[in-house]
Amino acid sequence: MNYDVVIIGAGPAGLTAGIYARSKGMTTLLLDSGRVGGQLVSLYPEKGIHNYPGFETIQARKLSDKLYAQAESMGCDIKEKEKVEEINNGEEELVVVSSKGEYHAKSVIIAIGMGSFKPKKMGCPGEDELFGKGVTYILPAKEELVGKKVAMFGGGNSAIDMALIATQVADTTLIHRRAEFRADESTVKQLEQSEVKTMMNSNLVSINGTDKVESVTIKQDDKEIVVPTDLVVINIGISADLDDLKKWNLELTPEGLVKVGFDMSTSRPGVFACGDVVDYEGKYKQITTACGEATTATMMAYKFVKKPYWA
Ligand SMILES: Cc1cc2nc3c(=O)[nH]c(=O)nc-3n(C[C@H](O)[C@H](O)[C@H](O)COP(=O)(O)OP(=O)(O)OC[C@H]3O[C@@H](n4cnc5c(N)ncnc54)[C@H](O)[C@@H]3O)c2cc1C
Repeated sequence: MNYDVVIIGAGPAGLTAGIYARSKGMTTLLLDSGRVGGQLVSLYPEKGIHNYPGFETIQARKLSDKLYAQAESMGCDIKEKEKVEEINNGEEELVVVSSKGEYHAKSVIIAIGMGSFKPKKMGCPGEDELFGKGVTYILPAKEELVGKKVAMFGGGNSAIDMALIATQVADTTLIHRRAEFRADESTVKQLEQSEVKTMMNSNLVSINGTDKVESVTIKQDDKEIVVPTDLVVINIGISADLDDLKKWNLELTPEGLVKVGFDMSTSRPGVFACGDVVDYEGKYKQITTACGEATTATMMAYKFVKKPYWA
């Protein structure tokens, strides 16, 4: 198949690039190795986003649905569970090789965010055995939490945000291994004013249960405490894997991110990049910046494709 632009990654950056590309009439393919929506659906679907203009608050999953629907209604071809492995130079075009096929592209926009990412594990007995039976790394929908005893592990903004959501319908305990949270002051204040119970200086020893989670064992000051629990939510960070980028012949920063010019161009002609995967001085990884960079990247891809007819 031939496209004016192939966009790799369908998070906020890739979806915005798709919307702009279609508004310029470009034939557009979006490929995502996971699910459309990127981090919004894979890492924090229940979280409220308070800093996306136009919405005082919008649930991450809903913002993703809106972006997806808009990109689809504008005529983007969108394929999920299709990982891009190579970007090769063809005779006149670029050839994007995925896990399922090959696509010819006049331009390419890389929007792979953090690459393949997975939540970090606690590494304790019971974690793997009870995964899916009460152990999770993503907060389930609120309806599934009603009346449950939730043990949330973590001490950053994300863990506190999830605990604040869970406490609306469930008996929630936030367990952190340090003496203090590593989160914004305003978030910690909200936590203090909420009904979330906290256990500090507490290490998880094991997750217990046979067919489902029944309790967790916590070590606090050399004392072991068994806390009855229905659901264990682990929120201690993410490990990202951007190794794919190394194969794509791009100039990278020492941190392994894509070096871009002010116009979101990369070191390869016809290849642009945007979102969390790019770095430059002053870069701030947010949804709005990803969308803004996607706009620029797409306009530059459009000019590249139309050359020399576009000054
Ligand atoms: C817990 C948490 C809370 C956050 N809260 C906020 C917030 O409140 N407000 C805010 O503005 N920002 C927030 N952020 C940051 C925001 O989520 C990111 O800045 C944003 O998702 C970046 O979008 P992106 O499209 O660049 O990347 P991503 O959202 O990471 O999407 C990239 C997509 O590319 C796909 N991909 C990766 N590799 C390949 C490949 N080889 N082939 C094909 N597809 C590939 C992935 O599957 C993914 O779907 C938060 C982040 C986290 C972790």
